[in-house]
Amino acid sequence: MALALALVAAAAAAAARRRGENRRASAKRTVILGGGFAGSQIARDLRGKRRVTVVETKSYFEFVPGTPSAAAGAAPLRAATRFNLRANLRARRLLVPLTKVLGRGVAVERVRAGEAVRVTSEKTVRVGEGRTLEYDELVVAVGSEYPSGLKASCDPNEEDAEIGARAREMARVRETMDEGKSIVVVGGGVVGVELACELAERQKKRGGGTVNLLHSGPRLLDTLPEFVSEYASKALVSRGVRVYVGQTYDREGDSFIGVMNKNVIQGDRVAWCVGSKPNTDFLRVKGSRFVDSQDYEDGEGSVDEDDDALHVPLDIIGRVRVDDGTRQVIGLDDVYAVGDCACKLPDQMLASYAHWEAEYVAKRLLCEGDENKLRRLGPYRLPPRLMAISLGPFDGVVLWGDRVVLRRWFAACLKALVQFWFIRFLPAPYAVAKRLPSLRTKPPASLILRRPLAN
Ligand SMILES: Cc1cc2nc3c(=O)[nH]c(=O)nc-3n(C[C@H](O)[C@H](O)[C@H](O)COP(=O)(O)OP(=O)(O)OC[C@H]3O[C@@H](n4cnc5c(N)ncnc54)[C@H](O)[C@@H]3O)c2cc1C
Repeated sequence: MALALALVAAAAAAAARRRGENRRASAKRTVILGGGFAGSQIARDLRGKRRVTVVETKSYFEFVPGTPSAAAGAAPLRAATRFNLRANLRARRLLVPLTKVLGRGVAVERVRAGEAVRVTSEKTVRVGEGRTLEYDELVVAVGSEYPSGLKASCDPNEEDAEIGARAREMARVRETMDEGKSIVVVGGGVVGVELACELAERQKKRGGGTVNLLHSGPRLLDTLPEFVSEYASKALVSRGVRVYVGQTYDREGDSFIGVMNKNVIQGDRVAWCVGSKPNTDFLRVKGSRFVDSQDYEDGEGSVDEDDDALHVPLDIIGRVRVDDGTRQVIGLDDVYAVGDCACKLPDQMLASYAHWEAEYVAKRLLCEGDENKLRRLGPYRLPPRLMAISLGPFDGVVLWGDRVVLRRWFAACLKALVQFWFIRFLPAPYAVAKRLPSLRTKPPASLILRRPLAN
């Protein structure tokens, strides 16, 4: 009897396995370029329903918002040093193996050192010389690069693409900053402000060195409400940071010279917190009607003429042009772009928006073109701005739209909770977020006219 039951159970399991395999074999093939916030989220949402392949240069997912504090070495997220094993483990908490993030059911295709990625008009992605991935749907989620070692390079050599090497790189950034007597942080956006605060805390503990924050805009955090700028400026000044706003600076060796008043600031260490750039050079194709021909005359074009390359429309700084309502790449069926590499307004260059865009596109793909389902889903609706800015380990501001909803210690705790939540890819449903009120005050008409256009 028991034997008969065991045989029946085994047969049922085999049949279920076969059904699963058949379903997978007939499922559409989705190739996702990039396994950051956006790419990983889409892959997770589509796994089991599609044959998903993520093309990545690194072997890990990096929780980028945690890197300013890890690189400065301030508590609670200290970066690794040779002598500090516990800190090393903490730095590694920002770095999670990609296979763990994506789970079973998602294939990872690693781009090795020196290999190129090509997207062709024949619905294939070529990785290096020999590997060709065919796709039914393509999602471009290659994000952006950032200077100062605050974000891992996506053009690594073999060793740099591993977790240990990235933790050591963060440690090197921290050691370099520690050696500085006068550190200059260039850029008074969110990253510059967060980093300057963390560095100041660290310098105070170590008993030496100054931190200077240079910003060309009229006030720090100038895309955020004035109250936030004031709060951040006070927090910085109370920690001893020297804040300079209102002009750009030319660098001459260790000196930074104000272009207007010739003010000179000495800096033996520099952290650049400006100049984020989309990782889309590999999509620039010579001969494309979307690439400025002048680029090629100036030798800026990055790839040779490629007859079968897919011509992906890029804007002037290289972001992929998408339709706001669908996140579909303009003029291309079955190709989407999400996250930092997509063309959108600067205040949407956040991990939260990368997550929501990804969730929306996954939902859209799963509608399988069914008109009724697509109507129910509706166009992409921008959720409100939800932002946690840390000002040192125990202070910060949380913004909802233009309102400050938390400050000080509570904000710092929420920032830690956000990290705990998002590094585990716990749910942050777009369906809920899109219904939240935006809480934005309308900018004056003069500001609207000066605003850069997204597309
Ligand atoms: C220092 C810093 C602090 C920040 N702090 C915050 C914050 O507090 N809150 C917040 O919401 N946002 C913050 N941001 C912004 C946030 O990190 C980005 O908006 C988010 O990372 C965008 O996600 P993404 O998936 O689009 O791109 P990315 O995170 O850049 O991921 C893109 C991935 O694509 C891979 N890739 C690139 N090129 C290729 C290629 N050719 N082939 C294959 N793979 C490729 C890269 O290796 C990378 O893994 C911060 C950014 C920085 C730099």
